[in-house]
Amino acid sequence: MYRTHTCGELRATHSGNQVTLAGWVQTVRKFGAITFVDLRDRYGITQLLFGEDLNKEFDENPLGREFVLQATGTVNERSNKNPNIPTGDIEINVTSFKILNKSAVPPFTIQDDTDGGDDLRMKYRFLDLRRNAVKRNLELRYAVNRAARNYLHHQGFMDIETPFLIKSTPEGARDFVVPSRMNPGQFYALPQSPQTFKQLLMVSGYDRYYQIVKCFRDEDLRADRQPEFTQIDCEMAFVEQEDILSMFEGLIKSVFKEVKNIDYTEAVERMTWEDAMWNFGNDKPDIRFGMKLLNLKKPASVYTSKQGQSALIDGADFKVFDEAETVIAIAVPGCSEYSRKQTDELTEWVKRPQIGMKGLVFIKCNTDGTYKSSVDKFYSEEKLKAIADAADAKAGDLVLILAGAEERTRKAVSELRLEMGKRLGLRKDDEFRLLWVLDFPLFEYDEEGNRWVARHHPFTSPKPSQIETMINNNPVIENAAEYLNHPYANIKANAYDMVLNGNEIGGGSIRIYQRELQEKMFAALGMDEEEQLHKFGFLLGAFEYGAPPHGGIAFGFDRLCAILGGSESIRDFIAFPKNNSGRDVMLDAPATIDEKQFEELQIKLNLK
Ligand code: ASP
Repeated sequence: MYRTHTCGELRATHSGNQVTLAGWVQTVRKFGAITFVDLRDRYGITQLLFGEDLNKEFDENPLGREFVLQATGTVNERSNKNPNIPTGDIEINVTSFKILNKSAVPPFTIQDDTDGGDDLRMKYRFLDLRRNAVKRNLELRYAVNRAARNYLHHQGFMDIETPFLIKSTPEGARDFVVPSRMNPGQFYALPQSPQTFKQLLMVSGYDRYYQIVKCFRDEDLRADRQPEFTQIDCEMAFVEQEDILSMFEGLIKSVFKEVKNIDYTEAVERMTWEDAMWNFGNDKPDIRFGMKLLNLKKPASVYTSKQGQSALIDGADFKVFDEAETVIAIAVPGCSEYSRKQTDELTEWVKRPQIGMKGLVFIKCNTDGTYKSSVDKFYSEEKLKAIADAADAKAGDLVLILAGAEERTRKAVSELRLEMGKRLGLRKDDEFRLLWVLDFPLFEYDEEGNRWVARHHPFTSPKPSQIETMINNNPVIENAAEYLNHPYANIKANAYDMVLNGNEIGGGSIRIYQRELQEKMFAALGMDEEEQLHKFGFLLGAFEYGAPPHGGIAFGFDRLCAILGGSESIRDFIAFPKNNSGRDVMLDAPATIDEKQFEELQIKLNLK
């Protein structure tokens, strides 16, 4: 037997027991004739004491960091206790030991505060994984996994595996492809998600399916994306949107409870996509704080129900506002006393290329009831007050206003709002706010191809009341500049996203389940009959054999873990992640393959 206990297990109550531990040497400290060794395993650290009698043996077999050691001895209550670790009350008086394996000097110290940089730690990820900080993340990941499985199992969901070697039907992201040796010149693709399989499972009658599954997308890796990532992928038959929302609200709440002991008892808030864009400037608003946008211009037609309060700024002859497509204000709480230096700094902040604005207008709502602004020349105090009031500013607040092209300005204000929220401590790591965003547009305009693409994916159903609009209008966009006036621009989908603290953690939709409508959808996306049959003939065929109404959702598992762990980076929650160029620096992959492999595949490289 290699060990009787783990390194995290022994307490003062074990005093006098004879035990054997096995683990890795964290530190060796010599004090005259005695030596202390901290022995570490997955469960903790225990202090070993090697007395004088072992000196000779010890000198003949010197221990180094990360050596694998087995030690037998007696548990002894320490006089000098260490309150910082659970085993700190005891140590082991070693009577015999054995070096099970030696270790080279590790390239960085395996401690919470390591001296190893990112690249080095990734190259030696198997050593990095020994560190507590990383281990805690993987433990959290496993806890989320367990909680999700428990919940879904109890709700009658079945975990069904779907294949990884499938057919390439790129839509949205690029596929990773795999050459087939047995079918020369032909390729599999790795699934971007099990979307069509889970729909087929609904046709097969498995009315509650889930899978915690790898998905593969060959995208340029923007910050914090991975080419392979994990989803909690779910689908249900005989459901309407409301059924899905309540089932999966339940899933996330139960994960909160199991993993963080948070009782999220209130109903998850809901917001339409239009309201999210209008009030927060993006489709995944962080609702831990207010600072809603005040739109001071009439918007483009994509917001069918919105107006904009242009009367508040019109007629002042202020060109910057008059000529801008969009003018948007936010009220930042408690910042009316910002100095010139501080407002200058904010102006520089919005001018940075990532934000791309030309300038920043501000109104200080002083606590004495007066208003002071950078546009006093154009607006009377009364008008400033009216704008501030409309932005919901209180005495002591600072109103910030940006003006420019619609999309850019909206994005900029949204970024500015998040930045101010962060600076003012309104985005707390330990506060969790969930939100459903509903009624997404069905289509998105693709400028490059001057065509419509699916906002979610082509299997998402339109709002029933708008099916006619889709079927009865020609998808062709005659005038690219006026695409917003095309009837398709206003068709909303039966689609929903779940948002947590400003991050999209899940998204899904009620699906199309009739062949005819699915064909119309493909056609709207510019696919002719031949292409439809080539790419999705199997699904269209399946819809002819009793496809039930169905819908589903998929959660970004890595992201969910990262947020629950209070981290911005999903990489920290993946055992063997890739770097920002999609490389596994430990394996040094991707890599070239042997000449023989090329021959078997009958593939010749033609690198440009
Ligand atoms: N398959 C979709 C995705 O990966 C999610 C869904 O619609 O269920 O985004």
